[in-house]
Amino acid sequence: MTFLKLDRIVRATGDAAKFRLVLVDDTRAANSIAARHEAGGYAAQLLGQATAAALLLASGLKGPGTAQLRFSLSGDLSRVAADATPFGLVRAMIPREEILATGSFEPMVLPQTLKVIKLDKEGSRVSEGIVEMVTADISESVTHYLLQSEQGKFLLRVAALYDETEGKLRYAGGVLIEAFPEAKEADWAALLALVTGIDFSGHARTATEGLDLDSLYALFALYSPQVHKEFEIEPFCPCSEEGVLRALSSLGREGLESLLLEGRDAELHCEFCRKMYAVSPEKLLKMLNEAEDEENEK
Ligand SMILES: [Zn+2]
Repeated sequence: MTFLKLDRIVRATGDAAKFRLVLVDDTRAANSIAARHEAGGYAAQLLGQATAAALLLASGLKGPGTAQLRFSLSGDLSRVAADATPFGLVRAMIPREEILATGSFEPMVLPQTLKVIKLDKEGSRVSEGIVEMVTADISESVTHYLLQSEQGKFLLRVAALYDETEGKLRYAGGVLIEAFPEAKEADWAALLALVTGIDFSGHARTATEGLDLDSLYALFALYSPQVHKEFEIEPFCPCSEEGVLRALSSLGREGLESLLLEGRDAELHCEFCRKMYAVSPEKLLKMLNEAEDEENEK
């Protein structure tokens, strides 16, 4: 088995031990997302881990759709969000002002909650679950969510490492295992120990950035996994002017008014992909009127 291309998600099932195995290397996508947010260091690693976790979680969706992870934190960062589809599309964000404020310092981050939302292919909500984050660690929190909210046995581990000299992530990716009901206890215990013990740095590609999925896959050889699906990973954001305007309306009357007073097109950015939308004063005025109507109705 050779996964020649970079940035892949690989799904396999174990013949000998009855489990599902998903491996992901999303280093390039995570680097592209981190660059758009001008995130380095810890923030870039968080984006790398959150995107890998979203991709692994999305691999368990029953059909086309989206898995959304919403980590609420306190301290220097208030939230990390990542969305992914089962076919390898992914986006992620940390609030812009918080990335700029932390710079290259390691932020102080305290765990709060993790919300997981699943959408169908039309974007309608299929399910929503919320758990306390055990620690600020992405792997532990998502595993905790899976054990609390889904039927079954799981272990998810994601990892990302930022290289200060290169100014980018050396790798971002991870592993998810899920036991099938017929899995034997002893096999599952051995698999848990195997995945817990993975040192991702030891599986980093040497010639280029990224994780060596071949060497990760080889760890499971004893359980004879069979690969049945493989997708390329692409950063993707389905944002629209309408959606960005909806986010803007949360500024409320005062925020809208001060934008209007500037008298020129307001430059709004999608918080996920940083795409810029120019909104004319006419459109702002219309929103302001609508906001006023809503206030009057209260
Ligand atoms: Zn966008």
